Amino acid sequence: MDLSKFNTQNLITKVRAKPRYRNHSNRKPYQKPKELSVVDPQWEVLDPKPDIHALYKEFNVKFFKGKLPEVDLKWSNRVTKGSGITKRTTTGKYIVRLYKPLLDLRPRSTTVEILLHEMIHVYQLTNGRKDWEHGPTFHYHKRRINKLTGANITAYPDYEEEYDLLKRHWWQCNGPCGEIERRTMNRPPSTKAHKRKCGGKFIKISDPEDSPSKKRRKV
Ligand SMILES: [Zn+2]
Ligand SMILES: [Zn+2]
Repeated sequence: MDLSKFNTQNLITKVRAKPRYRNHSNRKPYQKPKELSVVDPQWEVLDPKPDIHALYKEFNVKFFKGKLPEVDLKWSNRVTKGSGITKRTTTGKYIVRLYKPLLDLRPRSTTVEILLHEMIHVYQLTNGRKDWEHGPTFHYHKRRINKLTGANITAYPDYEEEYDLLKRHWWQCNGPCGEIERRTMNRPPSTKAHKRKCGGKFIKISDPEDSPSKKRRKV
């Protein structure tokens, strides 16, 4: 091949015109998109059930200069309006829990946002800041990371709708009021005050089929 035919200008034009064919293999290699934001919608498909430990490591490097300590990070099956919790034990261990039942009902991006929310608390705790809850330090980092990523970390995330869905134990009063109470736990509503008022008793009217307690019994 006579290389003298190709001047630099030609090469540049070629590369610009057909950038896709620069790859030497015929097969399209899988390329992990490097510049996707941590809350990019594509992640919902690429990695719908993320490994939270891997995310913690990645976010620690990306957003906290790798300064956060190792933490005891786990999913929790607690059913609550909250979505996560961070605390430091008396022995100086850091505990982070993400509430699985609630986050399972949300897109992956919510898990990312809640994990980042809790990671800001870890940062606050390790830095011995006095405003370790949702004070100025929290808001500073919340804004900083939201700006960097397009995420929507908030101090008080509100997932009322999802929480409502988790109330799968239904009870109804058999008295004149006929009131229905929906609860997350399989525990009847307290009836003392109600009995005085209405005289009725709460009867279970709906049970989740895939209730965790039932599953446990089967095993
Ligand atoms: Zn918080
Ligand atoms: Zn009643």
